[in-house]
Amino acid sequence: MSRRLLIFIIFVLTQSLAAQVNYSLTYGEDSRSVAKISVELPAPASGAASFVMPRSIPGEYSISSYDAFVENIAAVTASGERIALTKNEFDAPRWQAVDNVKPIIRIEYEVDLRKMERKMPPGSASAARDGFAGILNYSIFGWVEGTENQPVHCRVKTSKDWPVFSTNRPAAAARKGEFGFDTENYYELADGQIFLGPRFRVKEFKGPVPLFVASFCEPGDEFLDDYGKQGVRSLEILNDYFGEIPFRHYSIMLVRAIPLEAGTAPQLAMEHLASATFFGDTVGMRKAPLSDEELNRSISPYLHHMAHAYIPLRSYGDAYRPIVQEIPPIIRNIWFNEGFMWFLAYDTLKFERMLTVFKNGAFNTSETIKKMNLTELSQLGSTAYGTDFRIGRALYSRGALMAIEMNESLLKKSGGKKSMKDVIRALYYWGKQNRRAFTMDEFPRLINRAGGINLQKIYEKWQLPVATE
Ligand SMILES: [Zn+2]
Repeated sequence: MSRRLLIFIIFVLTQSLAAQVNYSLTYGEDSRSVAKISVELPAPASGAASFVMPRSIPGEYSISSYDAFVENIAAVTASGERIALTKNEFDAPRWQAVDNVKPIIRIEYEVDLRKMERKMPPGSASAARDGFAGILNYSIFGWVEGTENQPVHCRVKTSKDWPVFSTNRPAAAARKGEFGFDTENYYELADGQIFLGPRFRVKEFKGPVPLFVASFCEPGDEFLDDYGKQGVRSLEILNDYFGEIPFRHYSIMLVRAIPLEAGTAPQLAMEHLASATFFGDTVGMRKAPLSDEELNRSISPYLHHMAHAYIPLRSYGDAYRPIVQEIPPIIRNIWFNEGFMWFLAYDTLKFERMLTVFKNGAFNTSETIKKMNLTELSQLGSTAYGTDFRIGRALYSRGALMAIEMNESLLKKSGGKKSMKDVIRALYYWGKQNRRAFTMDEFPRLINRAGGINLQKIYEKWQLPVATE
């Protein structure tokens, strides 16, 4: 290597290092549920730069006001002066140092995790307990407008003997006290989750890619091996269904916390690019190995959420985007994201009882919902999917029933040579290749081409409101 080349490489490296946005999260045994965050910019930004918190999480189909838990927010100028930031006058999730002309270099703020848990729906909140914090990164990290696509370094600082686990860079061996990792940009950071503290455990399982199960269970340790078996089996099913695995590792994050308010927390989960967080109360905790029958019966939520790492996180249509946003998009095909990925579970696990669930979800529900066509229902579900879960259930059920009918037609007309597996696989590779959302006009053409059989009639039928069966 020539000297000039070496100097050039060093120059490029230092430039790219300098262009990093440095995030830091401080949370330890004395934090009392308050996380401290700082966002250090690679270069001083305009004094009027805006800091933004996400309100739209891919797959959540709701308005998630994480900005409500941001406290003591300030900007630090290049000369070290602290300037309080003012929230947007229309209550948009953004802040600014009004009238400030001095360039700013850092944003600092705090997030009260307990307050978040009390105010947000279960499944949308980070959780803090004695000796544990389970953090959904998008619930605490925002971005300085204009830096969201720059590389990120994130440093987690905690108590000296507290382990840290990050889905962005998982490892079974605990990293204690301080841990840093890089992400391609803010969006990849926001997609991750972090577990902190001595009260959670991690176990690694060998599968087509390494599988990590990280578990916090408030009343006592859970038996983890069955989660590992279900995760590995799900990876194998998906590897066969799609022909590849698009992530290098996967993390199943389990949070079983006694609800802060009385009442039972529903079993909910949230999918990410290479992980999913499963929230539950302590009633269903696994203290001992499951029977083979139980193991098989309870696998579908793990498979379904892992399948979301393909669709819609890597292949999607209409207004859905696999990134957090400030304002939720209105999506016309949530039935595809949810219904087709519940169909995948039905198609591979062969549970006939799921058909009854789909039929009930589509037909045994409110008349108001049944009178909506699929586009209207999806538009409503874009921000109210889980608010009234009859809406979410109707959406995934109608999508799954559409896929089942298409599957039967394909099998019949092709003499068993073609099925929805071919269609779903083709849609995944289309997304991977084109790296954009398919449009609603493109979708029927894409599925017809993939299956080699015209599915238009079935597609159009399911777009209509449903009559009673
Ligand atoms: Zn889902």
